[in-house]
Amino acid sequence: MSAFSDLIKVDKNGRIYYNKWIEWIHLYNYVGIEREVVEEYIAVALRHCASCMALSGCYFFKGVMPKYPLHPHCDCKTMDIDINWVKKKAKAECKIEKFTEYIFTDEEQSKGKKALFESWGFDISDSEYLKNEFCRQALENYLSGNYKLKKLDGEGQRLAIPITLKNKTFYSGWLLRPQGLIINITPYGGKFK
Ligand SMILES: [Zn+2]
Repeated sequence: MSAFSDLIKVDKNGRIYYNKWIEWIHLYNYVGIEREVVEEYIAVALRHCASCMALSGCYFFKGVMPKYPLHPHCDCKTMDIDINWVKKKAKAECKIEKFTEYIFTDEEQSKGKKALFESWGFDISDSEYLKNEFCRQALENYLSGNYKLKKLDGEGQRLAIPITLKNKTFYSGWLLRPQGLIINITPYGGKFK
């Protein structure tokens, strides 16, 4: 059974919402159908929009999901899923190189981000901590529906997820993959608005 606090959320403006989730399903994913039908579906799917295929199997908070249907003749479906299922499956991944080889490289390469992180008191030796902290916060915010939709294409749906370090909140960029996997693309994606 779901804990009440999991289902009822309050956003930063004090509005109450139900933390209801859907799984986006492209027909390519259908299970339990006849082989010939599957083959026909695959033939159709090959002509299908790459964005729909990339969304298939992805979990979204109902309040922040791509426009459905995505385009005319879109035959994707959405299925209601339990937040506890999403919590069970979801995970966040971030390569440590996002810090060791990007944020904390020289100024030119990091485009000012090194100075920014250093002004908050972090250096390259904090990379492991930052990686873990980014994953922890991003996962928590994703599971609370606290994210924004950014670019969507055949690679997938990008999300902007707030991260707070030393009382400073900013957006980090993530790629949403099926079954609630979020993968960090950009540690610092701009100021939180
Ligand atoms: Zn579609």
